[in-house]
Amino acid sequence: MSDTIFGKIIRREIPADIVYENDEVLAFRDLNPQAPVHVLFIPKRPLATLNDAAESDAGLLGRLLLAASAYARQEGFAESGYRTVINCNEHGGQTVFHLHVHLLAGRHMHWPPG
Ligand code: AMP
Repeated sequence: MSDTIFGKIIRREIPADIVYENDEVLAFRDLNPQAPVHVLFIPKRPLATLNDAAESDAGLLGRLLLAASAYARQEGFAESGYRTVINCNEHGGQTVFHLHVHLLAGRHMHWPPG
């Protein structure tokens, strides 16, 4: 997989507002927030898209979501609610080809999305 801007963030080659990190997950604020809270949860091991995840990545995908819900609890908006999104490829609106979970909170979300 070719390198992306998120690879540079993982290696600390470019700055990011990092809010959470463990051995396999990094979370940082989105540069162009779509809600008062907009944090991206990424695996440190690069997977380009959700299509590239295999059965052996099931635990990692689960832990990305659990990191997002733990962050929501820690920040006090778990009960009021939030949205998690994974965009995949062109029709999904994916622009950075390093798998990431968007966590959006702090306002009412609408459905269906645009
Ligand atoms: P997606 O469209 O799902 O691929 O989302 C990519 C997200 O990455 C967008 O919401 C961008 O605003 C965000 N983004 C791009 N570059 C950076 C960066 N250097 N730091 C933080 N967020 C970024």
